[in-house]
Amino acid sequence: MTPKNILLRSEEMPRQWYNVLADIKLNPPLGPDGQPITPESLAPVFPMNLIEQEMSTQRWIDIPEQVLEVLSIWRPAPLIRASGFEQALKTPARIYAKFEGGSPPGSHKPNTAVPQAYYNKVFGIKKLTTETGAGQWGSALAFACSQFGLECKVFMVRISFDQKPYRKAMMQVWGGHCVGSPSTETEAGRKALAADPDNPGSLGIAISEAVEAAVSDGSGQTRYALGSVLNHVMLHQTIIGLEAKKQLAMVGEFPDVIIGCAGGGSNFAGLSFPFILDKMHGRKIAILPVEPQACPSLTRGPFGYDHGDAARYTPLLAMHSLGHNFIPPAIHAGGLRYHGMAPTVSQLAREGLLEPQAVSQLDAYRAGVLWARSEGNIPAPETCNALAQVVREAEKAREEGKQKVILVSFSGHGLLDLAAYEKYFSGHLADAILEEGAIEKAREMLKGHPAPLDLKSL
Ligand SMILES: *Cc1c(COP(=O)(O)O)cnc(C)c1O
Repeated sequence: MTPKNILLRSEEMPRQWYNVLADIKLNPPLGPDGQPITPESLAPVFPMNLIEQEMSTQRWIDIPEQVLEVLSIWRPAPLIRASGFEQALKTPARIYAKFEGGSPPGSHKPNTAVPQAYYNKVFGIKKLTTETGAGQWGSALAFACSQFGLECKVFMVRISFDQKPYRKAMMQVWGGHCVGSPSTETEAGRKALAADPDNPGSLGIAISEAVEAAVSDGSGQTRYALGSVLNHVMLHQTIIGLEAKKQLAMVGEFPDVIIGCAGGGSNFAGLSFPFILDKMHGRKIAILPVEPQACPSLTRGPFGYDHGDAARYTPLLAMHSLGHNFIPPAIHAGGLRYHGMAPTVSQLAREGLLEPQAVSQLDAYRAGVLWARSEGNIPAPETCNALAQVVREAEKAREEGKQKVILVSFSGHGLLDLAAYEKYFSGHLADAILEEGAIEKAREMLKGHPAPLDLKSL
């Protein structure tokens, strides 16, 4: 019988990250002049060692020793055979969950926060600024900065700032400083407030504020950190899938289906990219990024060049996008409320290597509650979206009588999201499906930007 908790020994932790840029082609990010951006143009925003990593096409990249040391506080992370969930669903499928809820802030995000803080420190940076949606990324970066003695300033999307006070406190415990966004501290924030004093905020606006706060700091020792979307973030997260691959091999398994929720794409990419080469070489794996129906960038958003933030400070990225000024409905999976999607994930979806899915908010909580009752751990609202797709796949396996192996990213615990569960139980949560008009607006907006090339990696 397969053990419930499949563990790696600490010396089996991966010592290199997998860089998908060695194996796919991407449209380059474009500057304001419509030309591919240069490393130098990013220098006020990121340290040069991370910019080099962002642009690297080397397949394997060594994980620095000091980074491994901090990651080993909670890594290698467990792979859990979800036998209780399988029984509850009466499915012949075997379900494995890669558990990222055991990190100090409770999600996969420190997998990249830690190396980002490290590379900034090595480069001589003293302070990092960032944005956060639900507070997961802000708390991850505050934790990472505390490990390397950096200051940390976080712009938190207003709606979450009000709904999730304990994430703020967490950042404070680790020495970070958190303000609600839009704030009056930046030009971008003041503009958003002038247009709408009750602006609930969005990741797009918060990114604008954090970038502005970094580049306008006169000391030259402040930089910005992003928790998802960019190539180096996807790279750092591949430790998830590299570990999971080893763990599955220990019990003689290989996944037929890989599932992860996708906000900016990082936990999904982290779990699935180490299996992409297998798929490119003919292995049959269904790789499913899952998003909420309220913010369907991959399933319904057009592919084109768009900015990563509302104030258009960031370069144009070739991605699936709902438009850089898109403000999604106020669903509780704050980490899934981003308008865009990682260019790497977008490109792979475009080439048909991924099969994007969207689920309803109520189905997500239903799956999350079933998981908690059968497996114990209470999933983050974001993770519930992935679990809802696991339910669909498990039911399909039952109908087809197939013994599939399903691998899912359990991206974080929901112990600071209990207010959302409370709303679910009291019947105060609704489904929000984005109307077609919003998609049409996104199409119009992207038409005003340069058109990306139709690339083929294979
Ligand atoms: C931030 C977050 C996500 C979404 O971000 P990705 O970059 O798409 O992974 C998903 N789950 C949890 C628990 C998060 O904190």
